Amino acid sequence: MKICGKREFELLNKMGFVRMGGTEEELKAAHILMDEIKAMGLEPQLEPFEIEDAVQVKAELEVLKPYSKKYTVTAYKLCENTPEEGVTAPFYYAENMTEADIAAAKGKIILVNGFVRLDLYRKILKSGAVGFISMSGTMLETEENSDLFTRTIRDTMRAFGNIPAANIRVTDAFDMVKNGAEEVKLTVINTPITRTSHNVTVTVKGTEKPEEVVSFGAHYDSVEFSTGVYDNGAGSVINMEVLRHFVENPPKRTLQFNWYGSEEMGLLGSKAWVKAHEDELKNHLYMINVDVGGSVIGGDTALVLATKEATTYCDAFMKRNGYACEAKQDIYSSDGVPFADKGVPSTSFVRFGTAFGGAFIHNRHDVIDWLSADVLERTTKFVLGYSEEMINSVVFPVEKVVPPEMVEKVDNYLFKKQLAELKK
Ligand SMILES: [Zn+2]
Repeated sequence: MKICGKREFELLNKMGFVRMGGTEEELKAAHILMDEIKAMGLEPQLEPFEIEDAVQVKAELEVLKPYSKKYTVTAYKLCENTPEEGVTAPFYYAENMTEADIAAAKGKIILVNGFVRLDLYRKILKSGAVGFISMSGTMLETEENSDLFTRTIRDTMRAFGNIPAANIRVTDAFDMVKNGAEEVKLTVINTPITRTSHNVTVTVKGTEKPEEVVSFGAHYDSVEFSTGVYDNGAGSVINMEVLRHFVENPPKRTLQFNWYGSEEMGLLGSKAWVKAHEDELKNHLYMINVDVGGSVIGGDTALVLATKEATTYCDAFMKRNGYACEAKQDIYSSDGVPFADKGVPSTSFVRFGTAFGGAFIHNRHDVIDWLSADVLERTTKFVLGYSEEMINSVVFPVEKVVPPEMVEKVDNYLFKKQLAELKK
């Protein structure tokens, strides 16, 4: 069998629709993947897991003084609800939440720059603000050619407290600040709901060392407004083609192929898989992850969440074979992290765009037009070549170690230090 980019591209087209974690569309995509696997004569499993979500009931932002205007906002999922009639408070543009901003924010509804991660969120809570507004999009967008995202107060954030929160287009944020908004009314109400998301899994038993396992992972969900072909339909079809190869060329070690749901909501699929299969992980030697690919303009990188020696090994493979893929020892925000947290090292293959564009993630511009079958095929060849050499080695060439400098990055990523402080 030959690796076939055209076949990958066809499958990618088939699953190129919005498929957010826990939705019917995500499940539809799971079935598309399962049908593809069944056609190879294998029996894939669909593994359900529960996720927390919310239904938006009301999201309103109104400037009351010195002018009167309503702005379109979305309510943060799982934020603290305001009363039905909303919260009225002075408005303050807290920019980057410096110490001076923190001192000025008490009792106010504040607007902050950027994406609200845990550290910024804790500053907001500490300031005594009664609500916050974050912004998204770009200054060059218009309302017609942009989408307003719904953010979530994730569980790691809620562990520290909760307040009403909304997200606004950056163009509207600009309008408020420029016009000197002083007093605003914020109304955000949403209802928590539990949804079911799914991982698709299949095992190919090793012929010589079946007790030793290498897993392949790719998330197949997308964010809202995005057909998620680059992120990460591409990784999903690359791993499907790799699976097809190993069905025809049985591997010496056992392969566990997983397509993860709800990655975009905080690596929920891979976290659920690792939790449900924790006692099997002692047999897992390595994890290969593919997340974002196929863009015509861009460059390939292998992010090795393992030892320096493992990174050199990957780099040497690429050089030996003339593959334009740079190996770096680093963490990558994807499904390798929960494995690293359990001591299983990984390599994540990613194809980034450039500073000039080339690929778009997490918005309506993540579409198939920017991708090609040839690029998918090229990446698949080295993902396969690299992993096959490892999988069929007489002695596994890479140590099963996540070194301290990488453990530190994993712990930071999972906010372990901050969450430990809570327990004190
Ligand atoms: Zn992704």
